[in-house]
Amino acid sequence: MSDTFDMVLLGGGSGGYVAAVRAAQLGMKTAVVEEEKLGGTCLHRGCIPTKVLLRTAELMAAVQDGAAYGMKIPQAAVDYPALIQRKTKIVDQLHRGIQFLMKKNAVTVLNGRGRLRDAHTVEVMSAHGSQTIQGKNLVIATGSTARSLPGVPFGPRVLSSDGALELTAVPQSIVIIGAGAVGCEFASLYHDFGTRVTLLEAAPTLLPLEDQEIGPELGRIFTRRGIAAHAGARVDLGSIRTTDASVTLEAEIQGKVTRFEADYLLVAVGRAPRVEDVGLETTGVKLGPAGTIQVDARQRTGVEGVWAIGDVVGGYQLAHVAAHEGVTAVEDAAGIAPDPMDPNVEPRATYCRPEVGSVGLSEKDARAQGHEVSVGKFPFRANGRALIHGDPDGFVKVVADARTNDILGVHILGPSAADLIAEATLAKFLDATPLEVGHTIHPHPTLTETVGEAALGALGIALNI
Ligand code: NAD
Repeated sequence: MSDTFDMVLLGGGSGGYVAAVRAAQLGMKTAVVEEEKLGGTCLHRGCIPTKVLLRTAELMAAVQDGAAYGMKIPQAAVDYPALIQRKTKIVDQLHRGIQFLMKKNAVTVLNGRGRLRDAHTVEVMSAHGSQTIQGKNLVIATGSTARSLPGVPFGPRVLSSDGALELTAVPQSIVIIGAGAVGCEFASLYHDFGTRVTLLEAAPTLLPLEDQEIGPELGRIFTRRGIAAHAGARVDLGSIRTTDASVTLEAEIQGKVTRFEADYLLVAVGRAPRVEDVGLETTGVKLGPAGTIQVDARQRTGVEGVWAIGDVVGGYQLAHVAAHEGVTAVEDAAGIAPDPMDPNVEPRATYCRPEVGSVGLSEKDARAQGHEVSVGKFPFRANGRALIHGDPDGFVKVVADARTNDILGVHILGPSAADLIAEATLAKFLDATPLEVGHTIHPHPTLTETVGEAALGALGIALNI
């Protein structure tokens, strides 16, 4: 006989485990099927471990610049094994936290590989055998895997971000293909650890999906720091060769072919939805042209009683988006009409140095959509706290509609941008006007003042510039 649940989550990553908590809160008998560890990519191979490395990288950079802060510090060096231990300790602590949440909310965790037998039946296979469960409602939250380049499989010298996190020593040199979030974060942290970094991006700027002023400015800052960052680079995939100790490849940059050699190649060209071997074909759930599961704004797949959330549905492949999609799906299943998902209020963040945070439309997209755009820009150089922190690079850019008084987008390159974007996200969520953000009293001296000033700037009334 099989167990029957009100809600089954297939996958216990950032989307699945949060959805499970919400389902349990709503009184549903809930199960999560997870083949590895609860917390998924974000906790074990993504957001959390990379941010631990980035924190040490940031501290290394500050220490190496000690004289600028009025400190005399003898030569600093990264103790990589100790850093990995710190990373493991933090990940383990957060993992225990999720396990606690599952217990607290009486969620059944089934450890094994789940395969759908139909839209409401999951077979869970583990070393201990197989078990079949029924779910009145099912949420597919199987996540994604790192994409490889055609004809260039991952291996000991060709790494995905997973492979980079498994290294036991800091590489002396690395070539990174792709300057999205993964590429920029690893380029930044390896450079701060003393690695010779080459970053190759096919698009005309780094972070090409951000507002058009962000990538070029980040490129200038990376170059000034000593990172060999090349946008508009055409990597010849056929030229990639590996030996036991190194990788070589050729790329055309500004019409000139250059040969690169490094200890490792990190491929950071996006993530593919995990839809293979899940048994989707038994459910009637459809894939879109990008190979992701097609859903509506409440995460419905079109098959009665089946939702999908997180990286497997595409869109912004971000942990916080997955978690929110999970809550939306479960509340929809419970019949309490959640607000539909709106990509315009989904914040993005890249944790390189300086950080990038953004929400809503870029200036270019706003113009393309016919808005009467007004832009306010405030540089961190004019902010006291940024100068005190020694982080004067970057700016806050507010894109507003002068006719409707709407904030269309906010784009931040600079210190703590990933945190600062939260205020802009709340402002957009509450439909605040630039004047309301600008007239909100921001504590002084803080980095937050830059957001208020940029908002006033969109109205032509910034006070400190
Ligand atoms: P991405 O899609 O964000 O960026 C990939 C980049 O690779 C693009 O800029 C693309 O133009 C470039 N590219 C593709 N093929 C190339 C080639 N042959 N040569 C040179 N450049 C090439 O993917 P990612 O950075 O791998 O990240 C994967 C996903 O994970 C993204 O959705 C990202 O948002 C998410 N992520 C988020 C964070 C964060 O929130 N801080 C961190 C890491 C990853």
